[in-house]
Order: sequence, then structure tokens, then C-alpha cells
Amino acid sequence: MEHPISSFIVEYFNWVFLGVLALNLFQRRRGKEAHNKRFATLYIAIFVFLIYTFANSIVYFKWSEWLLLPFGVVTLTAGVLLRKWVFPFRFRCPSCEKTLSFEQIIYRDSNFCDDCTPAVEPPAGDEGQSVDSTAEDRDTGIAGRLSRGLSGLFRRR
Ligand SMILES: [Zn+2]
Repeated sequence: MEHPISSFIVEYFNWVFLGVLALNLFQRRRGKEAHNKRFATLYIAIFVFLIYTFANSIVYFKWSEWLLLPFGVVTLTAGVLLRKWVFPFRFRCPSCEKTLSFEQIIYRDSNFCDDCTPAVEPPAGDEGQSVDSTAEDRDTGIAGRLSRGLSGLFRRR
């Protein structure tokens, strides 16, 4: 095959994209509890969509597959630099090291397990992201609007 990696991405990443989007919609139902993680899955979905589009272009225009390399380096670097927002997921409680359940990993912004949650709350809100900021409709900016638009799109079906 001429484009083994790109073809693989073209074949499977649309499902990855839909999976991440579905996750995002489930998080939306939880409201502010999963606020930061909801934005994270949104960013990840955008990334998956970009790489999917890029791989499609490579196959369609018969570009060299080596172009994936600079694309990967740039997006990976951005992901590492912005990891606080792109990947806030932790698999263990930062207080007692207990392994978190799938629910806690996906929905709980604080990353603390059930035992530690009452004790450590509130987890020192960083840079003005006050935990008690009400109503998810406060989401402004592109990400908030995008997320709302996407869930509206799904609801219409
Ligand atoms: Zn704990």
C-alpha cells in the first residue's frame, strides 16, 4: 500500500473522533463537575479531526507520508505544552494513590477518590477558575460555543 499510516488513520480515526465526541456529550450531562475534562475531550476531538483531515489529504493528493512527521511533532509539542488543559486525566488519587474508577477518571475534575473528596475539597482553584462558578452556560469563547453547537447537533437527530 502506498500510504500505510495515512490509510490506517483514514479508516479508523473517524470512529475515534465519534467516540471522543460521545464521551464529551456524556460529560456535558454532568455539568460543572466535569467542566475541565469536558473541554479536554473537546480539544482531543479537534486534534483527532485535524489529523484525520490531514491523513485524508495525504491519501487524496498523493502527498508524501513523511508530512505526517512535522505534523505529529507540532501537535505533540503543543499537546505537551498545553497538557494541563488537554490531558487533565489522572488514573490515581493524588492524595492516597488509590486507582480511580472509570467514572472518576472521566467525570471528576478534582481527580480525588471518594474517600479523599470531602477532606481535600476545595482543591485550590487555580487562576480564578473558582469551583463554585455556577451554570455551565458561563462557558464563553470558542470552545464553549463549539461544545454547545455539537451537543445541539446530536440532539436534533
Ligand atoms: Zn484518595
